[in-house]
Amino acid sequence: MHTIEVAGVEIDTRHYVNGQRLASPETYTNTSPIDGTFLGEISRGDSDAVDAAVAAARAAFPAWAALGPKKRGELLNKLADLVEENVETLANIETLDNGALLRSHLRGVMPRVAMNIRFFADYAINDLHHDVFETRGHTNNVSWDPSGVAALITPWNAPLMLATWKIGPALAAGDTVVLKPAEWTPLTASYFADLTKRAGIPDGVFNVVFGYGSEAGAALTAHTGISRISFTGSVPTAKIIAHSAADNLTPVSFELGGKSPCIIMADADLDLAAEIAVEQYDNAGQVCLSGTRILVHESIADVFADKFREKAAALVQGDPRDPATDIGPQIHQVHFDRIKGFVDRATAEGHDIVWGGGPNEELGGLYFRPTLVKNPTPGSEVLTSEIFGPVLAMQTFTTDDEVIAMANGTEFGLAAVVVSGDRVHAKRITDQLVAGTIWVNCFFVRDLRAPFGGSKKSGIGRDGGTWSFDFYADVKNTVISPNGWKE
Ligand code: ADP
Repeated sequence: MHTIEVAGVEIDTRHYVNGQRLASPETYTNTSPIDGTFLGEISRGDSDAVDAAVAAARAAFPAWAALGPKKRGELLNKLADLVEENVETLANIETLDNGALLRSHLRGVMPRVAMNIRFFADYAINDLHHDVFETRGHTNNVSWDPSGVAALITPWNAPLMLATWKIGPALAAGDTVVLKPAEWTPLTASYFADLTKRAGIPDGVFNVVFGYGSEAGAALTAHTGISRISFTGSVPTAKIIAHSAADNLTPVSFELGGKSPCIIMADADLDLAAEIAVEQYDNAGQVCLSGTRILVHESIADVFADKFREKAAALVQGDPRDPATDIGPQIHQVHFDRIKGFVDRATAEGHDIVWGGGPNEELGGLYFRPTLVKNPTPGSEVLTSEIFGPVLAMQTFTTDDEVIAMANGTEFGLAAVVVSGDRVHAKRITDQLVAGTIWVNCFFVRDLRAPFGGSKKSGIGRDGGTWSFDFYADVKNTVISPNGWKE
């Protein structure tokens, strides 16, 4: 039995290698975070599975690279069409597998998956600059050549969304791909592999190996047959991957964690501020970009806190398949316990837990109440560690210098949110923030043409537009002399 029925479709639980399914001798159990339902036994990738996948991707590389952006673009656009036709199926699979809201998957996430593929396919054709420079009569021709096999390692919080940020540009650039999705959320990657087949993507161009990070992931990132490693996940795992990449000098692109500030200025529209603050609980707090440190100006702190409390109290927690639900479960018991550990320690240390503070006993299982910790002691772990759950901290400030120091005072630099009613003042603040993305009076607006990534420990490199191709392609300059021609 190598298939399971999920959301009304058959999903293969084996790796996808060279257009075929490949089983490993061992499996691991996959359950739904919604209610612990058993979903299936998934192939537990080892170095044999990884070797097979990399060999297939290497064999498929020359022909895929030679196709050129236009022909690749046709196939990738077909793939995007198929994703669009299957939005409902993909949304249902993902919600069962990772517990994120079905309504978000239907309306936002899965259409964006199609867009991720389409955008980069079209970008490679229309927008990559093939610059030409003259140097004393010599011509410099810049080209973007395919680089080989891209190893993609992805997390569980937005599985197919984050995978296609990488798959899109890698395939459009002419690389072939081996994807290792997170062990807790393998299912949409398997269904997506079937869609690549139906789209006519040649065998071996796209491969998936399931399994644990320390096994399949480690074997893949240490492989000598890959040309790129793109990883989204935690800082400790990034350090391990950086070590194995160093042995082969494999270029890496890392999008890591965050502990982003959400700054509410004295001049902010406080209704908007409360709306934005409550959005930081999105995806049950399992969002690397979340502004988990709410920094609010002392003069408006009480009024803001009342508005924020009202909005937070209105959040509906429950089954993510119910359209009324705002906050679903955490991904897994291991992760739930980790979040609970942070909150239990904060409680034991006497921090002021304004709301939430523990599991939702009415719902049981993996449902953790949205939590707010007020004025934690500076330096405490709720202000410095990425909790990756529905746990926000709130602090007050009085001066711009103070809030800049607080905002920049962690090892992370992924994102920042600023809510202000004064453009000049807002710019003064954003100019001094260290972060890959800053949202002013908004949150989560993402244009695929724009750079995306983290400063400091939040990452290496940027995704989006040309930045993605900078990484996946081998950028080449050919210098042509005016001399020596026989014509
Ligand atoms: P999280 O703590 O959010 O689960 P991780 O960084 O551990 O984040 O996991 C993100 C991805 O990295 C997953 O696909 C996981 O399997 C993979 N991973 C974990 N450890 C390793 C490793 N040693 N080598 C390669 N990949 C790994």
